[in-house]
Amino acid sequence: MNKSSHYLCVFCGSSVGQHPRFRQVAEELGSKLAKKNLGLVYGGAGIGLMGAVADAVLEHGGEAIGVMPQALVNLEVAHENLSQFFIVKSMHERKQKLYDLSHAFVALPGGPGTMDEWFEILTWAQLRHHNKPIYILNVEIDGAGYFAPLIAQLENIVKYGFMRAEHAKLFSVVTSVDQLLEAMIHLQK
Ligand code: AMP
Repeated sequence: MNKSSHYLCVFCGSSVGQHPRFRQVAEELGSKLAKKNLGLVYGGAGIGLMGAVADAVLEHGGEAIGVMPQALVNLEVAHENLSQFFIVKSMHERKQKLYDLSHAFVALPGGPGTMDEWFEILTWAQLRHHNKPIYILNVEIDGAGYFAPLIAQLENIVKYGFMRAEHAKLFSVVTSVDQLLEAMIHLQK
């Protein structure tokens, strides 16, 4: 395994979801990150889509870094074969460490934890704390994007004046792993 030049932080479910497509996309992202020599930074779980993306990175010879509070090591079944594993004291420290290690962020399908982490990164960008790229991978499932209602809500937030239109440009919606990697081309070498 070579040390990666750049790292993508992936926020995604600690569950696999109710459709095989979710896991397929997580695995596709993991394998393609490894092939492009982009490192994975994530929450360190061995389960759910989190585990799927990390397993795929490692299977293809890539680098996967996990960050987890001690209290979650059993609950979220810490991944045992990561390239690096940071144990931190709290959820807040976890988010800070994920942020510090990463050059870009993406949300794959997930639940409240995924949303919490992704929104915090967006709010930090709004507050000009950083200008690292932020993406949503809007996986199509049964003819509609998994995140379509969320994207509609974000548009509604802008429409009714609770977010400036320019702040809606702080994130990009992509619909495939290839489109995501294309958008991150400047991080690859
Ligand atoms: P979920 O999308 O709910 O399956 O959760 C995905 C990941 O987000 C899991 O590793 C959770 O532990 C993590 N998570 C949930 N809440 C927080 C939080 N407040 N700060 C950091 N990570 C969190």
